[in-house]
Amino acid sequence: MKRGRNVDWASVGVVGIAGLLIGLLWLAVEALIRQERDNALDDAKRNNANLVRAFEQHTVRTLDHIDDLLVLISKRAQVEGDALDLAALYRDLNIDSKVVINSIITNGEGLVVKGSHGAPNVSLADREHIAVHLKEDTGRPFVGKPVHSRVADRWLMPITRRINKPDGTILGTVGVAVDPNYFSDFYKEVNIGLNGVVVLFGADGVFRSRLAETGARLDVNISQGQVFKAATQGSPRGAIIFDSVVDGIRRVFAYGPIPGYPLFVTVGTSVDRELSEANARAKAYRLAAGMASGLFLCLALGVVFFGIRWQRERRLQEAKAALEIRVEERTAELRSRQAALAEANLRLEAIGARYLEEKEAAQNASRAKSDFLSNMSHELRTPLNAVIGFAQLLSTEESIDDGHRQSALLILNSGRYLLELVNEVLDLSRVETGKLALSVVAVDSGRLLGECIASIRAEAEAAEIEIRSVVEIGTEVLADRKRLRQIITNYLSNAVKYNRRGGRIEVAATASTEDRVRLQVRDTGLGIEAGKLGELFKPFSRLVDANSGIEGTGIGLALSRRLAEAMGVSVGVESEIGSGSLFWIELPRAVSSQRDEPALSRVAS
Ligand code: ADP
Repeated sequence: MKRGRNVDWASVGVVGIAGLLIGLLWLAVEALIRQERDNALDDAKRNNANLVRAFEQHTVRTLDHIDDLLVLISKRAQVEGDALDLAALYRDLNIDSKVVINSIITNGEGLVVKGSHGAPNVSLADREHIAVHLKEDTGRPFVGKPVHSRVADRWLMPITRRINKPDGTILGTVGVAVDPNYFSDFYKEVNIGLNGVVVLFGADGVFRSRLAETGARLDVNISQGQVFKAATQGSPRGAIIFDSVVDGIRRVFAYGPIPGYPLFVTVGTSVDRELSEANARAKAYRLAAGMASGLFLCLALGVVFFGIRWQRERRLQEAKAALEIRVEERTAELRSRQAALAEANLRLEAIGARYLEEKEAAQNASRAKSDFLSNMSHELRTPLNAVIGFAQLLSTEESIDDGHRQSALLILNSGRYLLELVNEVLDLSRVETGKLALSVVAVDSGRLLGECIASIRAEAEAAEIEIRSVVEIGTEVLADRKRLRQIITNYLSNAVKYNRRGGRIEVAATASTEDRVRLQVRDTGLGIEAGKLGELFKPFSRLVDANSGIEGTGIGLALSRRLAEAMGVSVGVESEIGSGSLFWIELPRAVSSQRDEPALSRVAS
């Protein structure tokens, strides 16, 4: 079986075969049951036909005996005429009074003239069993329809015969009343079972005698019934199965004629009774078939169930094996990856170690460089101060001529420039070696900017550059005053140096956020290419052409950034080539209580 909703054809096959076998079994069982039932009904038809024959013979014999009696009485009437004593004759003949209840004689008009038990003066000419003889000479006895005697409260069946005069004309009629029970009592001797019936009926459809569990009436007409129709319209002898028109019970009927009389006898036994044995057996067969079906089904389901389990087990085993292989593969893969990782780790560690070594070497070199610069600066400043001092003296000496004075001033200026450079280099190395002492206080940015502007005003005026400044209220900042002044002065000096003649400088102090203040210097100078902005603030990085004639060392901005970093604040630049640059520094705002007092001292690290 595949997974999911796919059909398990093997299981379907097993269940299908089981279903087929069960179906065949039931077909066979039902056929057998039908066969047995048909046999039982055929047997019943045969048995009932035999009974019909037996009852026919008995009925004929009885009727013939009664007719013999009628013939005898007629003969005596013919001979003795009015002198005949019917009651005496009746007694003499020792007639069985259970069968023949009484006897009467009528005259040719149907008037009762004699009786074995009295002769009421009544006319019976309208009665069928008398009228039939008054009308014509049939030469045969007539078995009349049973009539209910209200006097005796019993059913009586008249049997009559015509009495002729010697010339053949009618003398009268003789009749006897027969007890119909005589016949039915005889039928009783045979067991026809529950709901069985035996009926003697006339060609007129009316009962003459009847044996049945139910219904005592005899004035019943069955001329619409199937037995009657079959006996009178088709063969007078036969057997059929149908529902009785009298009581609705389904019966197996056999019927046959009474020879010499317009009468028929029929024996009907209940189909239920005839089939009771076959039905009992059918029940047993069905029970057995049911059990066999159940067994089959259980067997099939068992096969399917264990089949499915076996398949599942197998699939599970296969999946397990596949999983194990996968796990092994994955484990191997993992191991190789682990090995690769370990190797990479080793490499990384080696690289790390090398990096540390190199870093340490670099730090050592940097420290050595800074130490060297620091030492060198000291070494340079001492003689430089001497050079500047003597150049100053020389320039004020009255004894020298103008040419020498100019030379002395040149020495003085170059010396001062050189000293400035040395001081800057010294500061830079101090910051880098962490030896720069800082004193952070609340600084009035307006005042500081004013001082810075004043220090470069002469240079600006020489270049015809206009300086404007805007200072917002509440822009006191926390900073090392000296170092902040150094940074702003550097920004301003660059703004003059890299400006155009007749240009402009805007200095501003604004609150950039609630607790930060930005000091900025904007110029209308050359501007800096966007791609080169990254080069700014790096030591000895000059972006102007070496032949531009603008003096500079490339240290100012680098030192500014280091100083800002040492104070824990940031600097930055925005610039557009051709229209100018903006250099800024952003500082924490000082609250008023911090004014003019050292807020905190800090040593750059
Ligand atoms: P220096 O001015 O001594 O060369 P800085 O560190 O102060 O050194 O400046 C570095 C470089 O940055 C300068 O050489 C110049 O090319 C550029 N620069 C600085 N300020 C400006 C400015 N305001 N306008 C244009 N270029 C500037």
